[in-house]
Amino acid sequence: MAEITLKDVRKTYLGGFEAVKGITFDIPDGSFCVLVGPSGCGKSTLLRMVAGVETISSGEVKIGDRVVNNIEPSERDIAMVFQNYALYPHMTVYDNMAYGLRNRKTPKDTIDKLVKDAARILEIEPFLERKPRALSGGQRQRVAMGRAIVRQPKAFLFDEPLSNLDAKLRVSMRVEIKKLQRRFETTSIYVTHDQLEAMTLADQLVVMNGGRVEQMGNPLAIYEKPATTFVATFIGAPPMNLLKLSAADLGTLVSGINVPAEGAILGVRPEDFEIGEAAPHGGLTLPLTVDAAERVGPESFVYGTLGRGGDVIVRTPGQIVPAIGTKITAIAKREKLHLFSTDGSKRLD
Ligand code: ATP
Repeated sequence: MAEITLKDVRKTYLGGFEAVKGITFDIPDGSFCVLVGPSGCGKSTLLRMVAGVETISSGEVKIGDRVVNNIEPSERDIAMVFQNYALYPHMTVYDNMAYGLRNRKTPKDTIDKLVKDAARILEIEPFLERKPRALSGGQRQRVAMGRAIVRQPKAFLFDEPLSNLDAKLRVSMRVEIKKLQRRFETTSIYVTHDQLEAMTLADQLVVMNGGRVEQMGNPLAIYEKPATTFVATFIGAPPMNLLKLSAADLGTLVSGINVPAEGAILGVRPEDFEIGEAAPHGGLTLPLTVDAAERVGPESFVYGTLGRGGDVIVRTPGQIVPAIGTKITAIAKREKLHLFSTDGSKRLD
C-alpha cells in the first residue's frame, strides 16, 4: 500500500498538444480516488502516466516515497484493470490469475493459496478451469479483478473497467469493486466519464476539464457546492438548471440575496425544486409554463420555460404530472440555490 503523489504533472503529446496541464494532488494511502470528466479531458492520459505506459513530459509522480518517472511499469508494483479485461484467451481462469505470480517466481503453493483465496472472495471458484470465452462479461471482469488482487500491488489503477457491461451488471460490479477496495484497503485510481459511478465509488473525487483539475474533494461536498458551472452541470443528473439573470431579475425572483451589479448565473438542481405557491423568505419563486412532463416510475420530470427565456427541469414525485401549457410555480429554499459569476468560472456564495 502507498500514497500516490502528483506534482505539477504535464503531458505534451508528439505534435505539441498539451493533454495534461500541470496537475498536483495527493491520494492518501488506502483511499479510492476517481478521475471524472468529459471525453478528451486527459483523465486516461493522467492514469497512464501513473501506470508508466505513457511518459511524463514534466512534473513528478510518486508511489509511496519513490519517484517513479523513470521506472518501468512492471517495476512500479501496481495492477491495472481495463475495460477490455485483456485476459489470455488460451489460458484457464486459474492460469490467467496465476500468470503474473509465476513470472515473479512465486512458490507454487503460495500461488495456489492466493488464487483460490481471491477466487473465493470474487465467487469465481466454479470457473477456475474454464477458458475466458466460456464466461459472461461480468465473470470475465471478476477474473480481471482477481488477477490484479493476487499480485497484492501497492495500487490498483482502473480505466473505465465497467464500460463494456450492461446497465444492471455495471451497478452490481460497481458495488463489488467498492467492497473489494474496502476489504483490501489498496490505494486506487479509477477513471470514468460516468458521474454516478464517480459519485458512488470515490473517497476523493477529481473533476477534470481540458487537461486541468476543475474541482476535487469529497463527492457529496462537490455535489452540494460545485465551484464552477462546469462542475455543477457535470455532477448530478439531470444536470443542475442554470439561469443567467440580470441583477434586476434576480432581485425579483429571489429574496434576501446580495446580487452583483452585472447579474449572475443562478443554479438550482431539479431535485431541489418543489411545486408550490411562494418560497419562504430568502428562497426562489419561479413562474413557469409547462412544456412537457414525463413520469418515470416513482418520479416525474417537468420541463418548463421561464417567461424571460430559459428552460428549467423540475423533478417531482411521480403523481405530480401537470398538463402541458399550464402555469406552475417552482420554488426552492435559499440553501438550495447556487450563484455563479456570469462567466461560470466562480462560485459567488
Ligand atoms: P476518454 O474518456 O474519451 O478516454 P480522456 O479524458 O481519457 O477521454 P485522454 O485519452 O487522456 O482523454 O486524451 C486527452 C487528449 O489527448 C485528447 O484530446 C486526445 O485526443 C489527446 N491524445 C491522447 N492520446 C494522444 C496521442 N497519443 N497523441 C496525441 N494526442 C493524444
